[in-house]
Amino acid sequence: MSKARLIDGKTFAARLRRTVADAVTWLGTEHNLVPGLAVVLVGDDPASQIYTRNKIKQTADVGMASLHERLPADTCQIEVLNKIAILNEDRSVNGILVQLPLPDQIHPDTVIDQIDPAKDVDGFHLLNAGKLVTGRPDLTPCTPQGCLLLLKETLGDLEGAEVVIVGRSNIVGKPVAQLLLQENCTVTVAHSRTRNLAELCRRSDILVAAVGRPEMIRGTWIKPGATVIDVGINRIAGSNNTTRLVGDVSFDEAVEIAGAITPVPGGVGPMTIACLLANCVRATCHQHGLPAPDLSSSVA
Ligand code: NDP
Repeated sequence: MSKARLIDGKTFAARLRRTVADAVTWLGTEHNLVPGLAVVLVGDDPASQIYTRNKIKQTADVGMASLHERLPADTCQIEVLNKIAILNEDRSVNGILVQLPLPDQIHPDTVIDQIDPAKDVDGFHLLNAGKLVTGRPDLTPCTPQGCLLLLKETLGDLEGAEVVIVGRSNIVGKPVAQLLLQENCTVTVAHSRTRNLAELCRRSDILVAAVGRPEMIRGTWIKPGATVIDVGINRIAGSNNTTRLVGDVSFDEAVEIAGAITPVPGGVGPMTIACLLANCVRATCHQHGLPAPDLSSSVA
């Protein structure tokens, strides 16, 4: 069997960002609007600092306004809630994102549910999660959206596909499951208590790995010709005191068996921020009673 086709998230994400930039230009010229994204970072987790820096840079690159709110690690929950209340009222802010994880003294669900659902560009608010589950998606989580766009680009119509998602987090596994159910896939969500995981995975036409365990999914777990979406981002020790990023799937094994696979890095990762920017444009349009442009059609 020939090697799997590589699903190039970097290229797809660049295309989506160009479409977003065009929509931002249209909002500016036709409606005198500049979408604004506020990123709230509490503490100084090094990975979170890199993620927020990338988000802020890409926000500016597509012509949107970006507001960075940095709060010290010992900030108490009420201060974070107050900050969000101010951003909720600020008409120049159309999207609000609180970078996770938060320090231990702050409860993430309480903070997320303080965000105005219309500005919830991460799609994690209870109302937006409920809309997704009930088949009325509005602002949907970014990484799952990225997985869906990559799958549509790779396979076209997903109807009837057997999908196994390994991982049931609220930010990846569950929303991916909901998005794929809406595409009429048959979806199984596996987790740490699932029995016979390898056998289950081997039955799937589409395998989505969102586990957070480096290279846990082996080549022998994959059905020949299946499409593999590896969401995992794990930093492991490399040679000569270096580190490198790997996914949740053993790529070297999987690439010999799968029909198509996302690399790590360069697969799902770049799609996440591009989908965040797209959500900010959607949120801006909704807040101003404008029809949101179809931002995904350039990709899928
Ligand atoms: P979580 O830790 O929140 O969830 C992990 C899930 O994997 C849980 O549902 C857990 O099951 C399940 N799991 C853990 N061990 C096993 C096992 N041995 N067998 C089967 N299932 C298992 O992680 P996230 O969903 O937040 O993230 C998953 C991965 O995706 C991480 O590597 C993360 O870095 C990456 N990620 C990448 C993003 C991107 O932009 N590309 C964005 C977000 C995350 P249980 O519920 O039973 O504990």
